[in-house]
Amino acid sequence: MLKIAIATQNEGKIREIEGYSHPVQSRIEWITYKQIKDFPQVEETGDTFLDNASLKAEAISRHTQLMVVADDSGLKVDALEGRPGVLSSRFAGDQATDEENRIKLLRELEGIDIAQRGAQFVCSLVLWDPQQGLLFKTEGICPGRIGFVERGQGGFGYDSLFIPDGFTRTMAELSSKEKNNISHRGKALSSFYRFIENF
Ligand code: IMP
Repeated sequence: MLKIAIATQNEGKIREIEGYSHPVQSRIEWITYKQIKDFPQVEETGDTFLDNASLKAEAISRHTQLMVVADDSGLKVDALEGRPGVLSSRFAGDQATDEENRIKLLRELEGIDIAQRGAQFVCSLVLWDPQQGLLFKTEGICPGRIGFVERGQGGFGYDSLFIPDGFTRTMAELSSKEKNNISHRGKALSSFYRFIENF
């Protein structure tokens, strides 16, 4: 069994990482923040998703002496020149809720028509080893557009506003299996499992 800690307290991310279906999943024992005493709060000071994923992975790995998977992810909106990007979780302020962030996004896109509402979800995922440091990194991208109103109850974050390319439903209206098949995180996890298969 490979013991791997997940470097996040975001329940949405944990659900998707633990729920991702892959034959090799049975070789992994996931350790979440609930089993880690004094789970470190890591300041996300990096300019890129990869920098922030590495910062989180290294800190949790140093604290636990376990292998760690960290995901840093966010939404890049074309009409906002790539914002909110690495600041996605703090778009409406440091302590902002997902709902406040979605309201701010809709407000910033007011008056912008559907053709100009292109966006991408991006997920940078790294695997960190306490002795060797960075073992593996990958990036998954999911292209789509931002709708005009919230729809759906699934997922988390900006899902109820994000319509993936090829769909008329929002990410929050997809089943978790459908989301994992096409999402930025699902794509990153698919490469991660290819790496683990040969590990
Ligand atoms: P961080 O990676 O903890 O810095 O935060 C990522 C933020 O990006 C989340 O708080 C969400 O707002 C957003 N985000 C990342 N992945 C998803 C997703 O799969 N669905 C919706 N929002 C997401």
